[in-house]
Amino acid sequence: MARRTHRAARKRLLKKFLAPLLTLLAAALTGYSVWDYTGGASLPAAAMPEGALVSVQVIDVGQGSSLLLHTAEHSVLIDAGEREAREAVAAQLDAWGITSLDLMVLTHPHTDHYGGAVGLLGEYGVDALWMPAVSEVLLPTNRSYGQLLDAIEQNGCAVELLTEPRTLSLGEGITLSLLDGFVPEPDNLNDTSLCLRIDAGEASFLITGDGETPVEDRLREGGEPIDADILVAGHHGSSTSSRQKFLNAVSPKATAISCGAGNDYGHPHEKTLERLAPFGPVYRTDLSGTITFTTDGKTISVTAGQINDTIDAKG
Ligand SMILES: [Zn+2]
Repeated sequence: MARRTHRAARKRLLKKFLAPLLTLLAAALTGYSVWDYTGGASLPAAAMPEGALVSVQVIDVGQGSSLLLHTAEHSVLIDAGEREAREAVAAQLDAWGITSLDLMVLTHPHTDHYGGAVGLLGEYGVDALWMPAVSEVLLPTNRSYGQLLDAIEQNGCAVELLTEPRTLSLGEGITLSLLDGFVPEPDNLNDTSLCLRIDAGEASFLITGDGETPVEDRLREGGEPIDADILVAGHHGSSTSSRQKFLNAVSPKATAISCGAGNDYGHPHEKTLERLAPFGPVYRTDLSGTITFTTDGKTISVTAGQINDTIDAKG
């Protein structure tokens, strides 16, 4: 039974994703690399604070990860926490009046990142969905992943399995870049994580999913800019991410960690917190709830629980 389920899931995946993959290849040949989806204007401009270019929220989803970024013109959800996190993510989308996402990114196929997406895909419009191109040996064959594939199919969003860097414009002076996520023959799903960078004016954010040392090494050696103001710590603050050399290269002015209070994994790891200590404040969802960064391109305001900070962008 398990074998049959596995084969069926694989077949379904190929059928579902082959066409978009070919579209992507065709797009690469014709050379488009900027926003090319049908969406846009899904968010009323008035919803953004005066002068703000972009808001990046690290949503409190307990143990897991979900980031919502939006501009006056676009809204993007990066991961959606566990299945139980759907409500918390939906509450943020509703608070901003978002009924349709321009883009959903599922950094890698672990349930603490895609679980909530199963429900959300049935309730919100999604124009495009980015996922890493995961090898057959690592692809999950569990029931919840099958449910995700069903939800994607029912939603009808355009799926893209990313195999090379690309940059989208999210408005004037605002870009979302896929830097990496292409570790050859990764040992585990964490190292298939898509890594993203957001630039808004002089402010910048770096997001590495659950990427561990091999991912961080590639980013460091890859030649793409990884110096950033705000780092969303990889793998919920695990000791196998946020390694010293990587932190030196990113040199963040502040870090956000998404993890659940009293989680079973000991996230964030004490060693990670020690390494992060010289790099400015560390904001944690387990201590402060949802963390909201808002920037006008020069300064970044941070609100989380009782916290109200302002950070100057490095430029
Ligand atoms: Zn995770």
